Amino acid sequence: MSVEESALRSKISKDGETGDLTDGFHLLIDAFQKNGLNNIYGVPGIPITDFGRLAQAAGMRVLSFRHEQHAGNAAAIAGYLTGKPGLCLTVSAPGFLNGLTALANATTNCFPMILLSGSSEREIVDLQQGDYEEMDQLAIAKPLCKAAYRVLHAEDIGIAVARAIRSAVSGRPGGVYLDLPAKLFGQVMDAEKGHRSLVQVIDPAPRQLPGPDAIERALTVLKDAKRPLIILGKGAAYAQVDDTVKEFVEKSGVPYLPMSMAKGLLPDNHPQSAGAARSLALLKSDVVVMIGARLNWLLSHGKGKGWGEAGSKKFIQVDIDPKEMDSNVEIAAPVVGDIGSCLQAMIDGMGVGWSAPPSDWTTALNEKRDGNLAKMKQRLGSDTKPMDYHTALGALKEIIADRPDAILVNEGANTLDFARSIIDMYKPRKRIDVGTWGIMGIGMGAAVAAAVETNHPVLAVEGDSAFGFSGMEIETICRYNLPVCIVVFNNNGIYRGTDVNPTGGDDVAPTVFVKDIRYDKMMEAFGGIGENATTRDELTEAVTKAMDSGKPTLVNAVIDETSGTESGRIGNLNPQSVVKRS
Ligand code: ADP
Ligand code: MG
Repeated sequence: MSVEESALRSKISKDGETGDLTDGFHLLIDAFQKNGLNNIYGVPGIPITDFGRLAQAAGMRVLSFRHEQHAGNAAAIAGYLTGKPGLCLTVSAPGFLNGLTALANATTNCFPMILLSGSSEREIVDLQQGDYEEMDQLAIAKPLCKAAYRVLHAEDIGIAVARAIRSAVSGRPGGVYLDLPAKLFGQVMDAEKGHRSLVQVIDPAPRQLPGPDAIERALTVLKDAKRPLIILGKGAAYAQVDDTVKEFVEKSGVPYLPMSMAKGLLPDNHPQSAGAARSLALLKSDVVVMIGARLNWLLSHGKGKGWGEAGSKKFIQVDIDPKEMDSNVEIAAPVVGDIGSCLQAMIDGMGVGWSAPPSDWTTALNEKRDGNLAKMKQRLGSDTKPMDYHTALGALKEIIADRPDAILVNEGANTLDFARSIIDMYKPRKRIDVGTWGIMGIGMGAAVAAAVETNHPVLAVEGDSAFGFSGMEIETICRYNLPVCIVVFNNNGIYRGTDVNPTGGDDVAPTVFVKDIRYDKMMEAFGGIGENATTRDELTEAVTKAMDSGKPTLVNAVIDETSGTESGRIGNLNPQSVVKRS
């Protein structure tokens, strides 16, 4: 015991306390464990190295990454999959900033997470006297997350953690920042008093019931519809009320479209799925029921050519956030509340004998869907050499169909857009992708969290460019021996590998990588399994083996470098110059 510690101990004893001590490190760990938060994703360093060690010693799972952004993405996906805030732990200033990208992304996607960052001494930061990694992190985090708090005193840790948990998961979920100055960790206090200061959060995400008038209004609009459509978003998947969603869709008889991370909430081969008739469904529907999905860019803001004539549709929107209503178009029937309560109230309101939508509408959609699926089926059976996207994804589609519990992580441009429509999902929350921002770099963080939180095998289907953002985390995957199979769709570059430098200079074009990279060799360097696949059969064999063995594997899938298109399916968002300069 140090001199200061024994002095403190005797002082506490005089005050009539137990004499046992605790400190900031232990209180923080106790606060998380009291609330059932047992996994931390982070990168060690000053001033949180010992915190990670002590957390591990206390039985928490502490997963160390190579870069904070990926630890943060892992925490966000842990939050999405479990409904509890995922924890990300970083060092001060630069580590904090690296984690902040993930925190902002989590908030944008409505994923609950808490970014815990060590920080420098307040007195020095506030006077800007140049401390080690000095930065006013709290001020910087604030506009990029749902809530941000700083804890200065050990006795406030319990309340701070409770506030952070509630802020992350209640209402619309999102990211929370918790600023932890270095001095906090070592602050000592009486153990018994410290124990009493901890809070177990009761009902962290309380149900929010919709008003009966809102339900009645929504059902009136739905009843009058001639061509109704349901759009399921990842908010509906997050809510973990899978049976209620299924019951609502099936009782209503309304065709539905899943947004990409809502795929599998109902199986993609469900008879009411209009996934393969998406354009027709959006164009011709007269009433659209949005369930945990936003009318943002991913749905062309609910207006424009693809949606038919302006004013030709009525929207019913089910969402926990009242501010979401009328964000892009008029919402005829806002239903504000948690998805479980809202859908249950609608199911109850439909009573017995609710009639299915007119059959000319459902028949038209089904015919379109079946026609498109038949055409697609032919292409997916192809065996082109070198592989194009359809050949390679046709193989992976079969592997997922045989393993509906596997989690699919997916990012890239063409690799993302093709995989989203080609690979069917059969169970809720099995597809994790680039989300609301269409961000690159979520891949390995998401793969780690998916494996750690669910223990199911993970298949990460990655564009070669997308993979590069988080590729170093394959060491993390090998270190923890996670059941992750990564398939890199290697087409030698971004969009395509064929661009040339128009000046004829030595530099290659900005979208082009080193030709014929062997990403599989990287995996071998870390002790994982590397495979090179140049044909459909080789790909099927390598991925099947990996998924069945659960061994960390990277398959370098050689894709025809001419087969991609600019920006995948969102080329319209990528401005291109028409001016020719000599
Ligand atoms: P997608 O990208 O699939 O369209 P979004 O992230 O755009 O999904 O939309 C998710 C929506 O779900 C957000 O508007 C969010 O407020 C809402 N949401 C999240 N959780 C719940 C919940 N438990 N109940 C109701 N709405 C929710
Ligand atoms: Mg590429």
